[in-house]
Order: sequence, then C-alpha cells, then structure tokens
Amino acid sequence: MHIREFQSMMRRIYFHRDSERGKDATYNWLLDEAEELREALKEQNVRGLEDEFADVLAWLASLANVVNIDLEKAALTKYNNICPKCQKARCECPFEQR
Ligand SMILES: [Zn+2]
Repeated sequence: MHIREFQSMMRRIYFHRDSERGKDATYNWLLDEAEELREALKEQNVRGLEDEFADVLAWLASLANVVNIDLEKAALTKYNNICPKCQKARCECPFEQR
C-alpha cells in the first residue's frame, strides 16, 4: 500500500467526520496522539508502540484530507531520495539538539 492509498482509505472511513470537525480540532487530535506515542516510547511494549504509530499516521492523513493536501506528493516532493537540507543521499547535516 502506498501513502496515497492509505490517505484515500482514511478519507473513505473518516472524511465525513474529519471535515465537520475541521482543521484546528483535527490538528489537536494529532498532537494528542503524538503525545501518546511519546508515552509509549518509554515502555517496552511493541504492540503499544504499533498502536500509537498507527494513530499518529491516521490523524496525519485525516488532517491532510481536511486541508486537501496529497501526503504522498508532499512527502516525495520534499524527500526524494536525498536530504532536502544537505542534498546528500546519506544525510550529513550536523546534529541539532532538541
Ligand atoms: Zn542532511
């Protein structure tokens, strides 16, 4: 399955609700799921991690649907086999502390 197919699947299942909720509330759900992923990363539970990665990806796709962004096109335009910052196939950018 390609990113575009996943996004289309999310549109079929959820767009009627996502579009009603709107971009701000959908973004907040994405943030909530990212926070749950952060919590799951602290534990040694692969199933829990899979769940949270799935939720983050699902809400990202939902948000993209609400604002009519083609995730696959956006991702592959920016990340097309090279790092968009240093332009290398194996990133050589200096580490940034976050
Ligand atoms: Zn780089």
